[in-house]
Parts: sequence; C-alpha cells; structure tokens
Amino acid sequence: SQLPDSPSIEDLAGLISRLVEDNRRMAETTQELSEGLSESHKQLEALNKELDEAQSQSLKDPLTAIPNRRAFAKRLDENINSTVAVIMFDADHFKKVNDEYGHLAGDAFLKMFSTLITRNIKGQDMVARIGGEEFAIILPQTEIIAAYNLFVRIKSVLKASELVLDDGTCISGVTASFGVACHEPGMSANDLINRADTFLYEAKNAGRDKVKAAGL
Ligand code: GH3
Ligand code: MG
Ligand code: MG
Repeated sequence: SQLPDSPSIEDLAGLISRLVEDNRRMAETTQELSEGLSESHKQLEALNKELDEAQSQSLKDPLTAIPNRRAFAKRLDENINSTVAVIMFDADHFKKVNDEYGHLAGDAFLKMFSTLITRNIKGQDMVARIGGEEFAIILPQTEIIAAYNLFVRIKSVLKASELVLDDGTCISGVTASFGVACHEPGMSANDLINRADTFLYEAKNAGRDKVKAAGL
C-alpha cells in the first residue's frame, strides 16, 4: 500500500531498505526478549533453590541440625495408621550439666547426644529434638519388643559417651530416660505421644537411666 501505482526502481529500493531496517530492529528486540527470558529463568531457579532451602530449614532444629518437632509431627502423621513405635526421651538431671559446665557445654553435649542417636538408628527411623533436652524417635514397622531392646542398647551408648571440652574437662556419665509406645488400632498421633510420655515419666520416677514400655 506504500507503493504508487507504477513504482520506480527507487520506490522499490526505498521500500526494501525500510523493510530490511524493520527486520533488523525486530531481530534486536527478539534478542533482548530472549536475554530477558533467560535472566528470568535464572532468577526462578535461584528462588526455587532458596525455597527448597527454607523448607528444609523449617524442619530442622538449629542447634543439633536433626529434624525438629514439626518434622516429627509430619512424619508421625504419615505413619500413624501402620505398625509404628514412638520413643520419647529426656536427658537426666540436665540442669546440673549446665550448672556445672556452662550452657555452651550443655549445648555441645546435646549435639553429641543427637549424633549418637542418629548413628544408632537407620533407614526410615527418625530422631527429632522436640524441646530443650527432650527428643522423640519414630521407628516405622517396629514392634514394642524390638523398640525396647534397641533403646536399652542406645541408653548404654549414651551413658558411656564422653565430651571433652576445649580446656580438657571431660563431661561423662550423663544418662537419659526413655518411654516406648507402639501404635494400637484407633490411636491418634497425640494418643501415641502421650502414651510414650507416660512411660517416660515412669522411667524418671523409677530412678532415671531406664527404658519403660507397657509390661516391660
Ligand atoms: P530431669 O532428670 O527431671 O529431666 O532433670 P532435668 O534437670 O534434666 O530437667 P529440668 O526440666 O528440671 O531441666 C531441664 C534443663 O535442661 C533446664 C535447662 O538448663 C536445660 N536445657 C534445656 N534446653 C537446653 C538447651 O538448649 N541447651 C542447654 N545447654 N541446656 C538446655
Ligand atoms: Mg531432663
Ligand atoms: Mg525435660
């Protein structure tokens, strides 16, 4: 439509050079858009990575780097309608450890406890720090006797553990008390936790450094 009825060579040459110029500009714009798109892709990847990191941090206990109460609740919900054992345990007279060696030494001791438990469980088992010096463990597909026996052994491992501080002081002989419970038909996650808690208190009342479970 830009050409007169009988276009001259010059008219045609002018039109072609405008088309070439338009085409060049379009190619430039496409290049810019494609660079922008690839930059957006990079940003999206970085954000996804940050999201993954944040999600994994939200399930971790900052001191010990093991799963936290939230992760424990999530895992227990996933396992609640199967054979599953829950163990609640609490370090004995831990206040004394802090009083005697300081809070930082107490922290280091809790880290060591977490590492020892982690090393002594396997597969789908999970240990979580659910409060100060209190931990909870989930053992999927585990009957009460097996759970009880495992924790009698872990109790000895913890009791025999030693932490040497920077100044050479050695903290040893710290014990823990354990309550073991297994899922029974109709039990909710809270029922199961409360039951394990009841046995933990039984272990404390029986003098600490004990594993307690129904009839054991
Ligand atoms: P029990 O045998 O009855 O459990 O005695 P306990 O002293 O362990 O229990 P209590 O509940 O009286 O005190 C718990 C202590 O654990 C209090 C606090 O000093 C210590 N504690 C809790 N959380 C932390 C922590 O994150 N770091 C350190 N270092 N100590 C903690
Ligand atoms: Mg305690
Ligand atoms: Mg406690």
